[in-house]
Amino acid sequence: MPRTAVVVGAGPVGCLAALALRNAGWTVTVYDARPDMRLPENKSQLSQRSINLAISARGITALHSVNPKFAERFLDTAIPMRGRMIHPVHGREESQLYDLNGQCINSIDRALLNEDLLNQLTAASVPIVFRHKLLHADFDHKTLTFYSESDQKDVRVRYDFCIGADGCYSAVRRQLMRVVRMNYQQEYIPHEYIELRIPAGKGPSGEDTFRLDPNHLHIWPRHSFMLIALPNKDKTFTSTLFAPTAEFERFRDDKMFISWFRTHFPDALDLVGEDRLLHDYKHNPRSALIHIKTRPYHYKDNVILLGDAAHAMVPFYGQGLNCGLEDVRVLHVLLEKHRVDPENMVPDGQVDDNLSRALQEYTDSRHEDLDAICDLAMANYEEMRHAVTTPMYRLRKTLDGL
Ligand code: FAD
Repeated sequence: MPRTAVVVGAGPVGCLAALALRNAGWTVTVYDARPDMRLPENKSQLSQRSINLAISARGITALHSVNPKFAERFLDTAIPMRGRMIHPVHGREESQLYDLNGQCINSIDRALLNEDLLNQLTAASVPIVFRHKLLHADFDHKTLTFYSESDQKDVRVRYDFCIGADGCYSAVRRQLMRVVRMNYQQEYIPHEYIELRIPAGKGPSGEDTFRLDPNHLHIWPRHSFMLIALPNKDKTFTSTLFAPTAEFERFRDDKMFISWFRTHFPDALDLVGEDRLLHDYKHNPRSALIHIKTRPYHYKDNVILLGDAAHAMVPFYGQGLNCGLEDVRVLHVLLEKHRVDPENMVPDGQVDDNLSRALQEYTDSRHEDLDAICDLAMANYEEMRHAVTTPMYRLRKTLDGL
């Protein structure tokens, strides 16, 4: 009987990690605090962080490394975005291509990716235990305590190897801090975000059409705040307004918000429509943006943090999930390199040296890259809302293309 791996968190990173461990021969169980997002009755109560997101070569390579067929099938649902389309307040839009050789990022449906990964786990007979929230971890006795919402009681679970993929407010990380000397850095940026929807247009025969070029990531940069929009397969766009909390707090009533939006985003107001804009503004949550760095990511041969649990970054570089998926690929390579064998039963109290070495190398080799990408994400925050509008930036882009 192979050893038991427990994955905490059934988000995209936890699901991909569970699939990779299952492929490597571990007995895997996944736990998540939330209900099953695939069930229709749960869809309305589960708030997603963003409807769609951009996946790049980094994330695609990771999906491919675990299941090539899935990666290819999934990419069929994606919309390639070849550049940014800059929308000034007045004047013409400007296309800025990402790559002269045609490389692009892809707009994908976040829920679809997560649901597809959950379905793969189910198909591979990996149990997914929903409504179980991690409360406590006793790493030295390899025991996790979850609160089961369905049974309304605590449940203790034994494991041989634990993956903490429980997102930016990770409970696994909090527990890990009690046993390792973890360096930890957290910052909330002054901006919040709210999602707005740009509906599909109507073609000559009444068919749905895109109201903006679907092969661009649209940006309305306004220096201290900005609006962006990514295309969806149903010809709508999901648009996100990023602004400082203080800016949002200035709006005393609906009229003031609409008037502000009209002043700064007149073309976007035409696309969204006043009624829909007000509806989304009043009903959609305004959410905070957090930046987290940690080190180390692991403890002995026992537990490792992956995805946002290890490195939450602001979304302006579009790399948070891409990096989380890459974590899984890198871990998988290191488990193979150090010949970690799930069949190798390690007596209680002893350490699997191979696994311990693999996790140590993960922390040592991955830290610099993850720190760098968190910093790049923060830097791109300034670039997207401000620098793209400056003459110097345009000149640099032109020279890059020569
Ligand atoms: P999550 O998706 O947060 O999943 C964590 C899971 O753990 C959840 O299912 C949760 O229920 C569960 N959980 C939490 N606590 C517990 C507990 N105590 N017990 C049990 N289960 C628990 N990234 C990109 O690559 N490209 C983009 O374009 C992009 N756009 C973004 C836009 C916005 C507005 C934001 C906010 C983020 C964006 N990101 C993007 C980042 C991306 O959303 C995250 O990096 C990604 O969701 C992280 O995945 P994860 O699986 O690590 O964590």
